[in-house]
This record gives sequence, structure tokens and C-alpha cells, in this order.
Amino acid sequence: MENNKEKKIGGVYLAKKETKLKIIPLGGLEQIGMNITAFEYNNEIIVVDCGIAFPDDEMLGIDLVIPDVTYLKDNVEKVKGIVLTHGHEDHIGALPYVLRDVNVPVYGTKLTLGLVENKLKEHNLLKSVKKRKCITAGKIITLGTFKIEFIRTNHSIADAVALAITTPAGVVIHSGDFKVDYTPIHGEPINLQKFAELGRKGVLLLMADSTNVERKGYTMSESTVGESLDDIFLDSEGKRIIVATFASNVDRVQQIIWAAEHFDRKVVVEGRSMVNVVKTAMELGYLKVPEKTMIGVEEINRYKDGQLVIITTGSQGEAMAALSRMASSNHRKIEIKKGDCIIFSSKPIPGNEKTVTRVIDDLYRKGAEVICENAHVSGHAMQEELKLLHTLVKPKYFMPVHGEYRHLKKHAELACKMGMSDDNVFILTSGDILELNESGGQITGRVPAEQILVDGLGVGDVGNIVLRDRQKLSQEGLLIVVVTLQKQTGQILCGPDIISRGFVYVRESEDLMLEARNVVKNALEQCHKKRITDWSKIKGVVRDALRDYLWAQTKRSPMILPIIMEV
Ligand SMILES: [Zn+2]
Ligand SMILES: [Zn+2]
Repeated sequence: MENNKEKKIGGVYLAKKETKLKIIPLGGLEQIGMNITAFEYNNEIIVVDCGIAFPDDEMLGIDLVIPDVTYLKDNVEKVKGIVLTHGHEDHIGALPYVLRDVNVPVYGTKLTLGLVENKLKEHNLLKSVKKRKCITAGKIITLGTFKIEFIRTNHSIADAVALAITTPAGVVIHSGDFKVDYTPIHGEPINLQKFAELGRKGVLLLMADSTNVERKGYTMSESTVGESLDDIFLDSEGKRIIVATFASNVDRVQQIIWAAEHFDRKVVVEGRSMVNVVKTAMELGYLKVPEKTMIGVEEINRYKDGQLVIITTGSQGEAMAALSRMASSNHRKIEIKKGDCIIFSSKPIPGNEKTVTRVIDDLYRKGAEVICENAHVSGHAMQEELKLLHTLVKPKYFMPVHGEYRHLKKHAELACKMGMSDDNVFILTSGDILELNESGGQITGRVPAEQILVDGLGVGDVGNIVLRDRQKLSQEGLLIVVVTLQKQTGQILCGPDIISRGFVYVRESEDLMLEARNVVKNALEQCHKKRITDWSKIKGVVRDALRDYLWAQTKRSPMILPIIMEV
């Protein structure tokens, strides 16, 4: 069987047997988020996706995380374009940052590009970046030596595609994020025939979504959510209904609107990203809203509770999102009240459980009823769907993508269970260079693949040192020691004064602070006696003495900042 496969691949791609295709993931492995992969053959590069990751708890004050594209910057003349699989943030979010340095054409389906344009507009980049080219599923584009076919899939956003990338070294199939939905809301089911056809011709490598590899069975169809929504709406007669979901899940929003229409309710859309996505999706024809169904938030007082549905952001408990603000009475227009029915049409992303729980508690406190069951399905293939894809594509090699390390490992095991040899599976780390052709593959080197942190307008100016300071400040607090010394003699003229933030409440710790001042005073006197005049040395002595004292007294070590003034 193995021989047979080799012959097939060999038969189709005899040319340039020795040149290998380089596959370089710059992010997206051992993490969920920041998906971006470079494919390089001879002197040409294409890039698939360009996403962000959301900061984890340790990244204090960081807004988002973008990939390190040094390798693309250094080889910018080789880069033929960026090809997008779908419009989720972890696949398109970094474009406004990356396109500034790697200004190349971007290819994607209609909804994906619509969301990209919104993003570029927000960053004032619409004019300065190269053109975006809209590609429909089923079409093939040629970028240098690469031929890229867009293959329709299903996912939790419309217009998602997988890519079949034909190179002189063989065909690579990248699944994008996908599920198998035989009854999708918008458009058609995943083009399984195409995967089978490519599989029959011979596929060198399959790269596939690993997000749900731990979950048994099949994901339910998106349309089942509509049935559940109808049931919930039926049970909630007379009550105001508020549904929280992901702004980008246009098909979900569509089903909420259908349910509203069905039960004669008006729809209000709340939250900045929800308003933006709904607007774009309506303009591009991905969302059909019956006339007069949508009303502005300022009109809600004209309707009874039972005539309203509010679709809102905040399904992940994000502090600034509309639902969280409603739950904490910080929303200017909408207040949660007794009897409201709140539907979470979502599942907390791992890590967000606590914040979601907090919002749910706040909602219950206000007398609302909260429904989290049956109003959501996943957008990522589970085990049986993954097996289906592997079976149809029959790749020679396999690389699990889009997952934490354990997901990649489990997905590799699944492939092996289905008969693939261990040696033909590549689990990579972001930054690895995999060189591959039909005669084999190996990791031959690395490129930079750090995470670049974005804080406000600053990109990359917050690194490990700044983060460490932020962590220390957030955990231990800060003491500032201010003292004025006489220039010639080094005697204390004024102070030392100690200012504390986040360490102890000074008024309740007067003894400790008084003694701390004495410790500083003694340290300074020691310096004076020993004729130490170098400021940095004096600061060091003060810092050490105070640190030792505070540790002995409190078992805490706040950040200490000595400030010396001289007259
Ligand atoms: Zn994704
Ligand atoms: Zn996605």
C-alpha cells in the first residue's frame, strides 16, 4: 500500500525530485491562535493566514499578541502574497501589523476580505497596502510556482475554505479551521468530493485543524442551534430575550434573527464588534434581515419586553463587552431586570471560564434567568470528522496544526491509528523549517518566531523585562525612597521619605514605615562614613538594606526605587 502511494505521487510529480518544499509555521503551533505559515519553494514564498493570539494572564496590560515576521521581512521580495482561510481573528487579526512591513497582495473569500477591509480601515491602511483579491471557493489562483485551490468547508464563520497548494514537490492540503456540516446555514456543505479527488491523485502533506481532536464523535450541525433557539423563545413568552454570541458567527446571528422573526420580536444589535460584523455581513449578503426587524437601541422603550431580542457581544465575559456592562449596571442604555432571559449561545474559550461565571452570577443577582445549554455547537471537527478527512485525502505525510502541544500529539496519534507511519508525521514548533518532498522530510533549521506584544500603539516595545516589572509590581507593589543629600558632604538634608503603592497601606503600618525610614537612614550614614559617593552604589546599598528588612518583617519583596536628589 505504501509503495502504491509513492508511485501515485511519483507519477504526478516527477519533476525536480530533489528540490524540497519548505514549510515554516511562524505561529499557531503549541497554542490556539496566531496562525501563520510560510511555504517556500526555490525563491518564492506564499503565506497562509496572518492571525493574532489573545494575551494570557501573565501578559499584564497587553492588548494582543502578533507573530514575529522577521523571516518574511528579510525575504520580502520573495513573498508573492498572503492567502486567507477565513475571517477569524486568529487568522486575519495581525494583517494590519504585518502588511506595514510585508506589503503584498491578500487573497481570500468575500466575507473574509470584508472583515479584513474593516480592520484596515480602522488602522487607516486601506490606501497604503496592496490590493485584496476576492476568490470564490472552487477557484484556483497561481502565485509564482504555487497553484492554490480554494475548497469550500464549514466552520463557525461563513465563507471558510481549505487550501490545496500544488507545488513542484507535491500537493499540500491545509484544512483551515473546519467542520463537516451537511446542513449549514449559509451556502453548501464542505466539498468532500474535492478532497477525495485530490486524495486519489496523490497528496504529499495534509495539515489539519487539531482543536477538537480530543472530542469523540461528530460536531452537531449549526442548524440544530436554530431548533434549540426556537424552543427557548417559545418558553420565554413575554420576557425580554438577550442572546450573547461571537460577533463573527454570522450564521448564529442569522438564526437568532430568524427566531426573532418567527416569534414577532424586534432585534437590537449591541457591542461595537457585533454592530460592525452585522453591518458588513448584511452589505455582502451573508445576513438576511427582514425589513423593519432591526431597531436602534434607543427605540427599545417603545416596545414591550416580549417584543424584543437583544443580540450582544460579551459571551466570553470580557469586561468591556456590552453584556458584562449590562450585568454590572455600567451600560448606558440597557439595564438587566427581573425576568430577562439571557442565552449564552457560546462556550467559554479555555481560560475564560472564571470571567464568564462572574457575569452569569451578576445576571442571576439582577433576577435574570440564564440559559447556557443547547444554544451552541462547535465550529471545529471532532474525531470522526478528522478521520473522514484523513481517509479522503490519504496523504503521504501529516502535520497537525491549530492546537496546543497535546492537541498536536493526539492528532498525530489519530493519524497513526489510521495506518500512517510514525516517521511520516511531523509535529513542529513555531519557527521550525520543515523541508519536504516525496522522498522524505526533515526539520533543517529555525527562523525567529517570538511572540510580539502589542500594548496600545506600541508594537514590540513591551518585552520580557517590562513584563517582569509589571508582574512584580502587580504581585508585590512598589516602594519609592526619596532623599536629598548635600552635594559636598553627602549628608542627609531632607528625608528619607518613603512612598508606598500596592505594598502596605501606610496609615495602618506606621511602625513598619517608620522603621523602614530608619533602615534607609542608617544605610545612608554607612555610605557617608565609607565615603561612597557613587550614586548607583548608594542606591544599591539602600535597596539591599531595605529589601532585607522588609523581607524579615513581612516576607514580601516589593519593587524598591531609590531616588536621590542633591543640593
Ligand atoms: Zn482558528
Ligand atoms: Zn476559525
